Amino acid sequence: MNHYQLIVIGAGPGGYTAALTAAKLGLKTAVVERRQCGGTCLNRGCVPTKALLHASDAYRSVLEAGRMGVHIDGVSVDLAEMYAFQRQTVEKLRSGIESLFKAARVELIRGRAVITAPGTVQVEDAGLYTADSILIATGSLPARPPIPGLELPGVYTSDELLEGLEALPKSVVIIGGGVIGVEFATFFTDLGCEVSIVEGLDRLLPNMDRELGQSLSQTLKKQNARVFTDSMVEKVERNGDMLSVCFSRKGAAMRAEGELVLCAIGRRPYTEGLFDSGMAVEMDGRRIAVDERYQTSVKGVYAIGDVSSPVQLAHVAAAQGAACAGFIAGKDCCVNMSIVPACVYCKPEIATVGLSEATAKEAGIPVKTAKCTLFSNARTMISGSGRGFMKLVAHAGTGAIVGAQLMCERATDMISQLSQAIANQMTPRELLKAMRPHPTYEEALGDALEKLCIPNGDIPLRF
Ligand code: FAD
Repeated sequence: MNHYQLIVIGAGPGGYTAALTAAKLGLKTAVVERRQCGGTCLNRGCVPTKALLHASDAYRSVLEAGRMGVHIDGVSVDLAEMYAFQRQTVEKLRSGIESLFKAARVELIRGRAVITAPGTVQVEDAGLYTADSILIATGSLPARPPIPGLELPGVYTSDELLEGLEALPKSVVIIGGGVIGVEFATFFTDLGCEVSIVEGLDRLLPNMDRELGQSLSQTLKKQNARVFTDSMVEKVERNGDMLSVCFSRKGAAMRAEGELVLCAIGRRPYTEGLFDSGMAVEMDGRRIAVDERYQTSVKGVYAIGDVSSPVQLAHVAAAQGAACAGFIAGKDCCVNMSIVPACVYCKPEIATVGLSEATAKEAGIPVKTAKCTLFSNARTMISGSGRGFMKLVAHAGTGAIVGAQLMCERATDMISQLSQAIANQMTPRELLKAMRPHPTYEEALGDALEKLCIPNGDIPLRF
């Protein structure tokens, strides 16, 4: 029987980061994976969606080139080529992970793992393995609520949509206005489809600052999308070639029709068949419950990523994986797990970190805020990206930055310097010590930082 110091179950961003970190720290490590390396993120999530969005953005840019006097005739959507681009990108990255395993001497065991006892893992068609520690990183699956009609042909989850479409639908109804829903809405509006979004809460991106969801609704509406908020879906019906999503909105019965329906209402932790009949760990609802060192209720069995975390993001899974491997190897972690940047690849991009004004108020934290629009930003005018803003939140007492909400081009790249500022309790004045190059979107960040200083009578260093 093969014995390891650590067996990781699941080779998604949480699992593969944990395994590679453990190997670096000298632990004899194996990873068990039942599907492809890279998990949801690489095969059915972050990477394929961004590859498709990159392709749809290229299509839209060509159509918009007329604004700059560049006229290109005969442009059409080749969906098969777009999906081929997506697959090639995924395959390259996947083989990169497998090479990293080989180089680090992490054994990759293919098959479905079942934990039969603490320290024992049975892998279907591969045998029985033992380990000093087991790390569960089995991720999550798309949730399908018991709404009648969701099983109809033509109703997709993100998993199925990312496998490929034969033809571009003329119209799409998206159930759920969270991150996955709005990213697919961006993809389909880029390609000229009629898009309707039906969201149960009062705005898109309901987990984020109110103004972000409201501004995004306006932007999507300008692109001819229809956005229905406060709308509870009751059933989906087929009407000839079309699917009707029936919902109630403020007491009124309404419907949105589309050739295709995407159900994007969240994801549930994946634990089916993971434990043998004599084996169980404490649960927190559907999630595996863990302590601050990611240990479950069973000693030597750990869990990280989507299967146990209330925040389901790839970088959270990876950070937890690295930290957990470190704890198992007796090392401490230096990453502040409470500061979580979140990005949405819509148009313009959205990125947030830390507290919003509203969440600070709820938590009783005194804050001051500053907002800067990008209408007069030179780079924004050149790219024609229009609507955009940056909101910064600082502690009213110490002046340290505690949160940021950006909605503008390159927001997903710019957010890291604000995460860095929050992690190191930096003040706007400290962030203003560095020049920002011209012309960049980032110049607007300088303006927002300056606004945060002014109410204090604190003269910014730029002048
Ligand atoms: P997963 O990536 O789900 O990996 C779990 C792995 O475990 C899988 O490969 C699975 O096959 C394997 N497994 C499960 N059970 C067993 C078993 N019993 N035996 C062996 N193997 C098993 N996050 C971001 O940060 N940025 C984004 O832009 C982003 N976009 C997304 C877009 C979409 C459409 C979706 C669906 C998700 C997106 N996410 C994004 C979320 C991100 O994909 C997840 O948070 C991340 O993949 C979680 O990583 P994980 O390692 O916990 O689990």
